[in-house]
Amino acid sequence: MKYKHAVMMVVLTIISSFYKPNTPALPLILELYDTNTIQEIIKLDKQDIELLSKMRYIPYLSLYLQDSNFQLKKLARYIWWQNQYPYYDLYQIIIEVNQDKDLLLTKTYADFYQGAKPATNINTIDVLVNKQHYLPSEYQPTLHNDLQQGCYNAIQELLLVAKTNNYFFDVKSKYRSYDYQKWLYSYYQQISDDADRISCKPGFSEHQTGLVVDIAPQGKEINAIVDYEGYAWLAENAHSFGFILRYPENKDMITGIQYEPWHFRYVGKEIATVIYKNQWTLEEYHELCKDK
Ligand SMILES: [Zn+2]
Repeated sequence: MKYKHAVMMVVLTIISSFYKPNTPALPLILELYDTNTIQEIIKLDKQDIELLSKMRYIPYLSLYLQDSNFQLKKLARYIWWQNQYPYYDLYQIIIEVNQDKDLLLTKTYADFYQGAKPATNINTIDVLVNKQHYLPSEYQPTLHNDLQQGCYNAIQELLLVAKTNNYFFDVKSKYRSYDYQKWLYSYYQQISDDADRISCKPGFSEHQTGLVVDIAPQGKEINAIVDYEGYAWLAENAHSFGFILRYPENKDMITGIQYEPWHFRYVGKEIATVIYKNQWTLEEYHELCKDK
């Protein structure tokens, strides 16, 4: 045991050298993993160690880290692909996810509702509401101008800074009640034979959280946002105000929703920055960073 302790102290010293003092996340890695895994972790670059320190305990992490094709930012996708194909070996899992095989759309937009559960921690800033996690019909957040206060302040700040760059946006859809979403979904069912591709059932819409804004160029509809000259700025800077592009292109298999360039979700600056830098979705953030 004395030997083990000595090894841990050496490892701690090595890892600490990566960090400025007062990095509170560091001891967490040491607490969560065994010596073998820590030896793999310290081979990572500084950015990856920092990212890992934000994550929950990941089973079999050392096996992942030993594979030279492994990319830490794709870890959630490896885990999901492994759950789907438990008889594949890890090498194959990593290769296939790196080839984006897991992102090929293999089910309908309605299939995503199968096995849905109530959303948890519904009053937190990073609440996950999707086709797998629904809000109660009576859930109504405290709102200020149809948004939760933090989200409202952040979008005001974003719009102001956008203006100084000569970009002008309108905020369209914000909070939507359960009953309004119920009406909207049935409306889409009447006008489209694929309502689940473009709308959500009541309780399953993130708009009910009051943490969402649909953004359009000033005086135009939301569909026009990708062609607007200010969109590149918006997509690159939204995270510094606490927003993420919630339904990115080609992530339908993860989000259950097709690409929506206008739909931005408030999660706060810190979480938004992690999600943006790693090109995650909110689903991937939850898989890796929230306790299960
Ligand atoms: Zn929206």
